[in-house]
Formats: sequence, C-alpha cells, structure tokens
Amino acid sequence: MICANLQRIRSVIGETAGGCGRDPLEIKLVAVSKYMPAEMIAEAHQCDQVLFGENYLQDAEAKITRLPPALRWHFIGHLQSNKAKTAAELFQMIETVDRLKIAQALNRHAGLLQKKLDVLVQVNVGREPQKSGILPEEAGDLLRAMQPLTNLRVRGLMTMPPYGREPEASRPWFRALKKLSAELAAQEFFYDNTAVELSMGMSGDFKIAIEEGATFIRLGTAIFGERPRQ
Ligand SMILES: *Cc1c(COP(=O)(O)O)cnc(C)c1O
Repeated sequence: MICANLQRIRSVIGETAGGCGRDPLEIKLVAVSKYMPAEMIAEAHQCDQVLFGENYLQDAEAKITRLPPALRWHFIGHLQSNKAKTAAELFQMIETVDRLKIAQALNRHAGLLQKKLDVLVQVNVGREPQKSGILPEEAGDLLRAMQPLTNLRVRGLMTMPPYGREPEASRPWFRALKKLSAELAAQEFFYDNTAVELSMGMSGDFKIAIEEGATFIRLGTAIFGERPRQ
C-alpha cells in the first residue's frame, strides 16, 4: 500500500509541476512518519523514499537510531531549546525555528558537533494564536538576528496555514509565504538567496502548494494512511 501510494503521489507531483511549468525535481517529498512504526518507514524506504519528517523528538530518536543511516530526517514539530542538542544530532534539517532562543541553542550544538545545520523559519501566516511560528512582520528581525549564527544555514521558510475545508482555501496563505520569502531574499537573509526553500502543503493541499512554489511538501496520511489515534 505504501509503495502504491508513493508511486501515485510521485506521478501527481510530476503532473502538477508540469501543469504549472515547474521542474518536478524542484519538489522534494517529505514523508511525515509521526506515530508510524519503523517497519512502515522501512517499507517506504524500500520504495526509494529517503526523506522523512518527524514531530516528536523521543519517538523520532528511537526510530532514527534503528533505521539505516541513509535515511534523511526533517524535524517538523515544536522544538524546546532544552531539546536542541538531540535535534541537532539527529536531524539534517529543522523546519520549525520560530524564535531566536531556539536558533541560538541549535547553533551552539551544531558548533559542538562541528556540523552545519540546515534550518527553515516557521511562519504563522494565518496569525493563529494556537499555532507555532513567527508572525510574518517579525520574520525579518528574526532572520537579521540569526545572521551571526554561522553554524546554521537558513534555507527558507515553512508554514502550516489555517485549516480549510477546501484545498483552495490554502492558496492565499501559500502565496503569502512565497511573497514574504521573496522580500526576505531581496534583503539577502538566506544562505542561498537564489534558491530559497518553501516547505508548504500537506496531504490535502499539496497540489495547490506546488502551484504556489513549494519546494518541500510534507505528506503523512497520503503515504501511510490514517494515523493511529494517540
Ligand atoms: C502531521 C503533519 C503533516 C502531515 O499531515 P498530513 O495531513 O497527514 O499529510 C505535515 N506537516 C506537519 C507540520 C505535520 O505536523
């Protein structure tokens, strides 16, 4: 089932990218494996899925240390600064940096590990009080404050838009993130201002996200099926 899902998703990515004149290779699929056992992740890996996303550090640690080192991991959950060490050790990218304190903690631990850590800044485009992410108008100040943190490579922005019944409801939020990223790239706040990453789009709305410029799409249910209730 996981293989069939991945194959179908890859062809939808290809068609959607083609339909809006984008190179499908620009769009990287993050398989969101929260609550999924290592066996299911291994099954996806057998079908050539290498990049996975996890939300919960302890869960992720148990799986990452059991699975082959060839797998690549993005942290997509809420991060506390006392967990920055583990996160910096285990993950190739932290998608959810939304305040200076966490950026500084990650930078320090990346330095101790003698590695450069890729990060995204999470933006709360819908200004929802219950959601993580920095407000759009504060993103510039955060990025400016992160410039001295040379062990971090700020690759771009990530967002989780307000929930909408229809996939189309996400479009204005995705567009807003893209516009913000262009403004910030013009100020040269990113590691590579000519290739800014945008992590947006989930199982319900990833086609819209691709049309609006996503370079990472984060899909859980569409690959692994419904998550077990926790
Ligand atoms: C769970 C989760 C996803 C995947 O959601 P699906 O609707 O299952 O595709 C994507 N991004 C984040 C941040 C998540 O927490």
